[in-house]
Amino acid sequence: MIIVPEREIPDLMTRKAAFDAVEGVFAAMASQDAYNFAVIREAIGHEDALYGFKGGFDQAGMALGLKAGGYWPNNMEKHQLINHQSTVFLFDPDTGRVKAMVGGNLLTALRTAAASSVSIKHLARKDAKVIGMIGAGHQATFQLRAALEQREFEKVIGWNFHPEMLPNIEKVANEAGLPFEAVELDQLGHDADVIISITSAFAPSLLSEHVSAGTHIACMGTDTKGKQEVESALLARATVFTDEVAQSISIGEAQHAVGEGLIKESDVNQLGAVINGTHSGRTSADEITLFDGTGVGLQDLAVAASVVDLAIEKGVAIEVDF
Ligand code: NAD
Repeated sequence: MIIVPEREIPDLMTRKAAFDAVEGVFAAMASQDAYNFAVIREAIGHEDALYGFKGGFDQAGMALGLKAGGYWPNNMEKHQLINHQSTVFLFDPDTGRVKAMVGGNLLTALRTAAASSVSIKHLARKDAKVIGMIGAGHQATFQLRAALEQREFEKVIGWNFHPEMLPNIEKVANEAGLPFEAVELDQLGHDADVIISITSAFAPSLLSEHVSAGTHIACMGTDTKGKQEVESALLARATVFTDEVAQSISIGEAQHAVGEGLIKESDVNQLGAVINGTHSGRTSADEITLFDGTGVGLQDLAVAASVVDLAIEKGVAIEVDF
């Protein structure tokens, strides 16, 4: 069995490797070569923690396993540990033997950023110049860094519920040599060609009337029942794509638009179908495309398998007899 500890991941995993792994597994999901198992998430009644498992099997990439982990809200204060903790376990699909245990914290941020990047690659207008960020927390910095590699962006604009956090994303923009401007939501929606929202909000910030024709929006924060980042009417106006339709309509951004009868389950398309060429994706410069990124276990397995290969290649994988 191979162990890749969390401390090794920053030097091993690249944004390119994460992007390729996530693009590949979205394609495999759409061609039904890979499927996600039902998600388990439990309030364990200790330390206010939410703990669970996301797993799946990718027959194309031969990745079988699960990510175990969750959210411990008191970690930082009590233990100086980050509140989100996760570990990925990979198994040999031929025998069921455990193959690898991989630190999942940084990988989660990289695979989530890769998902919105894959959506930008396949759905945003090629001439997109302005990217708008809604959210400025931990994930937002990863999201922006990855997205900037997908188009020749010239400017980053941003809005956050807590404006004092905006320097987090301003720093990423400036590191990439781009100007940053803090704006109100109506200006963000009007000026941005691509918008990423990654917040923990339970009520919409971005309204349909804010958004210009031709925009691509990646909604990445809504991964639980009740959360919401954009007005449901925006989904009715857009062509909607997702990683996994079942999650999109139950725990993703589409839960609200479907619940209110504004769109149907059949209006939600798999991004993987665009990657595979079985869905035409964006068909006009005026179309609004919206990616509902809910986060699936197969993304975690794909990036973990990729990091195991890199660890073996670089001689830093720890091998234990198990
Ligand atoms: P964080 O705590 O670092 O940042 C939270 C962000 O949400 C900040 O920008 C904050 O200002 C904003 N926010 C908080 N309350 C708000 C409100 N009422 N209205 C609008 N904005 C508000 O969290 P993070 O680690 O950056 O995670 C952000 C979200 O992404 C979480 O909801 C998390 O569950 C989700 N997430 C999704 C995936 C996925 O695969 N889709 C993966 C990881 C995390």
